[in-house]
Amino acid sequence: MDFPCTKCGACCRNVHLAEQTRTLDRGDGCCMHYDDTSKLCRIYDSRPAICRVDVQFTLHYQSQMSWQQFCELNVAACSQLAQWEQQK
Ligand code: SF4
Repeated sequence: MDFPCTKCGACCRNVHLAEQTRTLDRGDGCCMHYDDTSKLCRIYDSRPAICRVDVQFTLHYQSQMSWQQFCELNVAACSQLAQWEQQK
């Protein structure tokens, strides 16, 4: 099962919120690799490991939970971030 990313772009537009992604900030909180027009990553195939849900699961979480559980937690986080973004 692939991670059910909706390509909303909320995570890419708010890299300033996490210490692990802050170095990608182009100065306005958005990632320097984010394409504002297409709303997609311009370096998707070579994006950093921190942007790869499957890699993060393997490196840090697979001993603690199933892939299904990890996806559900991340989908919930995505939803909260998108809602926060709409309210600011
Ligand atoms: S590198 Fe790509 S996937 Fe990662 S935050 Fe930037 S735009 Fe998003």
